[in-house]
Amino acid sequence: MILALVEQRDGAFPADALEVLDVVRDLAHRCGVPGGAVSVGGAGMLARELGARGLDQLHLLRHELLDEDSPQYRAEALAQLVADLSPEAVLAPSDPRSSEVLAEVAARAGLPLATACTAVTPGEPWTVTRERAGGILLEDAELYAPVRLCTLARGAVAGGGVGNGAAGSGGADVTVRTFVPTLDETAPRATLVERRPRAAGVGLASAPVVVSGGRGVGSAEGYRMLEELAELLGGAVGCSRVATNNGWRPHRDQVGLTGTRITPALYVACGISGATQHWVGCMGSKAILAINTDPEAPMVARSTWAVIGDLHEVLPAVIDELHRRSDAAARPGA
Ligand code: FAD
Repeated sequence: MILALVEQRDGAFPADALEVLDVVRDLAHRCGVPGGAVSVGGAGMLARELGARGLDQLHLLRHELLDEDSPQYRAEALAQLVADLSPEAVLAPSDPRSSEVLAEVAARAGLPLATACTAVTPGEPWTVTRERAGGILLEDAELYAPVRLCTLARGAVAGGGVGNGAAGSGGADVTVRTFVPTLDETAPRATLVERRPRAAGVGLASAPVVVSGGRGVGSAEGYRMLEELAELLGGAVGCSRVATNNGWRPHRDQVGLTGTRITPALYVACGISGATQHWVGCMGSKAILAINTDPEAPMVARSTWAVIGDLHEVLPAVIDELHRRSDAAARPGA
């Protein structure tokens, strides 16, 4: 049996969780074993997703302490289920919560955990390819374990990396089983108290346009231009680590290895050299506009378009032009 760890968020299953279901279906098909999912909470929507993919097993973890939304309780419950079922593998998305749960399962069960996998191949032994250094390196590894625990890099399925793409039969009858773990109410744990959106406006991770600034911006005040441009373009403001180190922007705005990895349609890099640790955060952008005084800067070399010039002159000119065009469009008869 191969299982996907799938968590519902805000009444829906995130895209990366559904990707994991597709990979589990393909791997189960290759191994000739049943495939399914394990989750906490209601069965309805997930059972339909499984059935549509030809997966026929759903294991629901049920215990009142699981309502605390504690990764430690979820991990303990999952570790007990794994001990009970001895599946060939358990796969989960690479999001922080699933990674935390699988890491705890690995520690409890004495199993290895392979994270951010772009390929998982069954065999003797199972092999994985996994991302390292924020995705700029790929590493092949062999898993020697009775149960393989893996998190999957986001988009690995769409890229054709994980699994073999074998189509599921679809329309399977899903057997739903409830598993009640034994949980200790005095166990050390972190419990969820509140979840809230971080800030108003477009979030960095999902913004279609990111206007980002580095050392070249020169000051916290300098980011007002970037904020204005981002607002005009319906985007968000990002920054390099120099900006966060200097206290010009909060860390949540940082793009890169130790910040957020983004994939906007357009990344506007203002006064950013394009150091590797920054590049790994923005290399998934569909197009990059670099504004830089240095024509030799790596960001310029890798950009789709570049303006060689002082951002303090270029940005006001771009903003003025956008205002001029939107005023013209708003004029009657325009
Ligand atoms: P610089 O490299 O100093 O570049 C400034 C650029 O601005 C230059 O290209 C210059 O030509 C240009 N410029 C200057 N003035 C102007 C102007 N007036 N108009 C136009 N252009 C101008 N960095 C990150 O960004 N994100 C990370 O997540 C990250 N993680 C890291 C993790 C580790 C472990 C380490 C060691 C480093 C990490 N860094 C990270 C830091 C990274 O190595 C670089 O130091 C940093 O990205 C450089 O920021 P910058 O491009 O703003 O500054």
